[in-house]
Amino acid sequence: MSDAPRKPLIALDDALATLLAQAAPLAGTETLPTAAARGRVLAADLISPLDVPPADNSAMDGYALRAADAAAPLPVTQRIPAGQVPGALPSGEAARIFTGAQLPAGADTVVMQEFAELADDGRLRVTQPVTRGQHVRLRGEDLKVGQTVLPAGTRLDAIALGLAATAGAAQLSVARRPRVAVFSTGDELVMPGEPLPPGAIYNSNRFTLRALLEGLGCEVIDLGIVPDRLDATRAALREAAARADVILTSGGVSVGEEDHLRPAVQAEGRLDLWAIAIKPGKPFAYGRVGEAHFIGLPGNPVSSLVTFLVLVRPFLLKLQGATRLAPRGYRLAAGFDWPRPDKRREFLRVRLDEAGGLALFANQSSGVLTSAYWADGLLDNPAGQAFKAGDAVRFLPFAELLA
Ligand code: AMP
Ligand code: MG
Repeated sequence: MSDAPRKPLIALDDALATLLAQAAPLAGTETLPTAAARGRVLAADLISPLDVPPADNSAMDGYALRAADAAAPLPVTQRIPAGQVPGALPSGEAARIFTGAQLPAGADTVVMQEFAELADDGRLRVTQPVTRGQHVRLRGEDLKVGQTVLPAGTRLDAIALGLAATAGAAQLSVARRPRVAVFSTGDELVMPGEPLPPGAIYNSNRFTLRALLEGLGCEVIDLGIVPDRLDATRAALREAAARADVILTSGGVSVGEEDHLRPAVQAEGRLDLWAIAIKPGKPFAYGRVGEAHFIGLPGNPVSSLVTFLVLVRPFLLKLQGATRLAPRGYRLAAGFDWPRPDKRREFLRVRLDEAGGLALFANQSSGVLTSAYWADGLLDNPAGQAFKAGDAVRFLPFAELLA
């Protein structure tokens, strides 16, 4: 809460901890059809009401029998397609069975049809040694009745949704969507589709941020481009605060004369301007306008992307009660030397090769969005740390950060 233009650099972890301390989970849940819950955060533990699979069943097309009977020729006395309830199998008999069909009581083993022959007398001969229990999927081997299938706080991706459905869940209780009002600042910005006058550039952050927010389950209130004027910025903030839980802006948080966000937020609420010790993305603002959180990202496209991923993403997940906020990093081998590290923690745009090495995009400028498009993720390099090709470094995959 200061007008002072020069502030000491704050370590990213400290900035994140301060930010997350403000992110009280939003009240309110909604119940959605399971198929509509992708990207949302589960609000209550999902408990399995059943064993999955509900009964022992066959993993193969073949014959169900007792392993102890397999040496002798066996009459085939039942045919069990998937979905049918079989009768018990007397000892000394076999049943024709198909993948997913319930095992008859008494049978303990399935012989693949490739390893069985039907003789002229109709009896089955098993042509390979059998192991008791082979090719049988046991009742409850996936889920057990009463088991927590998905704990509250799980982000629902394709696999989690499939697992919920496995347990029979037609609906899921999820945290309500954070409403996020977004606007871009900058008189140089024009929208794609408009002609580009001299001095102008297209507004890319609006698209990146919108898509990131939607991917995190947020409802986006897009307020477009706000002119670099104090009154217009204040009016936009008031409208955003009335409609949203979070106000997210890009640009205008450095301390240039044309940066009107700072005085506008200070007039309408309160603001902390942070200089975070990261590259790209040093300027970052957090404050409040009315009940709404205010987050101001830097304007440079890579800076706004990186600060969103390392700060705003965990913030929005915490608002929804998600339990895993931090992305997983992996130790991988650098494929290049980095002899002159920055004194700030750096997030380098790197590409992963199939051998697990990391290659660097040549132009690491915070204005070059191609670097992020080319990359598979960010190399998270501690402040001031030089490294050489082959050294282990920390890699944050976009596959996880953008999920
Ligand atoms: P600022 O943070 O407003 O000083 O902007 C820093 C740089 O980012 C300037 O070169 C701006 O033109 C650029 N910039 C700001 N907002 C956007 C945006 N929405 N899309 C693309 N570039 C932007
Ligand atoms: Mg600007």
